[in-house]
Amino acid sequence: MLNQKQDWEIRSRSESCNRCGKEFVDNEPFVSRLTFSEEGYGREDFCMECWPQVADEPALSVWHSIFRLPPPPPPETVKRETAESLLRKLVAEDRPEHANTIYILAVMLERRRLLVEKDVQVREDGLKLRIYEYRKTNETFVIPDPELKLAELTHVQEEVVAMLSGNDNPPPAEPTETTNAPAESAAAAPATLPQGES
Ligand SMILES: [Zn+2]
Repeated sequence: MLNQKQDWEIRSRSESCNRCGKEFVDNEPFVSRLTFSEEGYGREDFCMECWPQVADEPALSVWHSIFRLPPPPPPETVKRETAESLLRKLVAEDRPEHANTIYILAVMLERRRLLVEKDVQVREDGLKLRIYEYRKTNETFVIPDPELKLAELTHVQEEVVAMLSGNDNPPPAEPTETTNAPAESAAAAPATLPQGES
């Protein structure tokens, strides 16, 4: 019987080839292989020399990547829940009621080009999996696709936005204080986001 608990998974990239042990260097192409067994997901990374020797072995998914040296840790500033930190938290919690939220967060991060979809696979038990890679770290995110209908999608998106704006990250509010300067076109001015780009 398959272990249903491990629906989501984040798998780190190896620092070295899983076959010959050679350490990867920055910008080196390599091949990742994802397998699924009763023990859960397994990820292995291979250098381009070793890959042809294992390419025929069975795998759930295979993709090519470029090795990136891990970025330095971000400075400890104000803890702010982002789509990424929320995704990591929910995946770690591993609760079925978060399935839709986790999926929407992954889609949001993909639109922002932080996650790259590497593959889509259907597991033996029929579960559709989207396999994403986190661009900065080459980590693998295995995210089941709940195949939401449009109405559900809208509802979940609203929930996610609410979760993201719940902390010390207030949504851009309409200005409450009024200025005393004469506003020539106050009536026509949209009370939305400030446009201080230039
Ligand atoms: Zn190797």
